[in-house]
Amino acid sequence: MITVKNLKKTFDDTPVLESINLEVKKGEVVCLVGASGSGKTTLLRCLNLLETPDEGSIRIGDKEVSFGEDKLSKKDIKDIRRYSGMVFQGFHLFPHMTLLENITQAPLTAKQQDKETIMKEASVLLEKVGLSEHQDKFPDALSGGQQQRAAIARALMMHPEVMLFDEPTSALDPQLVREVLKVIESLAKEGQTMVIVTHEMNFARRIADKAFFMDEGYILESGPAEQVLTDPKEDRTREFLALLE
Ligand code: ATP
Repeated sequence: MITVKNLKKTFDDTPVLESINLEVKKGEVVCLVGASGSGKTTLLRCLNLLETPDEGSIRIGDKEVSFGEDKLSKKDIKDIRRYSGMVFQGFHLFPHMTLLENITQAPLTAKQQDKETIMKEASVLLEKVGLSEHQDKFPDALSGGQQQRAAIARALMMHPEVMLFDEPTSALDPQLVREVLKVIESLAKEGQTMVIVTHEMNFARRIADKAFFMDEGYILESGPAEQVLTDPKEDRTREFLALLE
């Protein structure tokens, strides 16, 4: 599903990603963990080209792009983004639209399905994330947890092959975290391929198939989530996990 080879990214002469190699198979849930500043968000943003890597290549589905000399075409960016749905730390819903409008805006614009199908699907997804009764409200009338669940529904409306989550619960009050994790967990059970940046280690141990531990721009350790997150091989991973206990 995703193959990343030798990916590098530098911001203002500071290397942030150094030769990243990874693979995510269809149906896998992968967690990216690591200390603040280790490059997790940058890697996730590179996966849907919100950041342009300096070197290396990314293949998602049957689309492959290489980075280096040539500037990426708009078509390359569009093709890669077609495969992924991104959920950000800060929800990023459109404030002037109701929940229903938020989640139907992209598919209605894309016009790949008729309106009736889109509206039916929106209603099923809103039910799934527990927001049917709030569909006509504006985001600021909802809790952070509700807004984040709406953001997940919005990403799912485009039928992404892979969902990318960037610390989806870190802006939420502790009592709202659970309801969002529950939605992500239900997607995992349905076999949705996902890459999740998270500091919620118990959640990661529970749902992830694989974990990547990032350290200073490298993937220092990777493997089955249970092993990497409970009995890591590397001292740096162990130290990181100990800090969170
Ligand atoms: P956190 O857990 O705090 O979100 P992270 O592991 O996700 O951290 P990144 O956000 O990817 O780390 O940041 C990695 C490094 O790149 C940091 O030193 C950060 O300051 C730097 N960085 C990220 N984005 C930019 C940018 N647009 N311009 C310059 N530097 C950046």
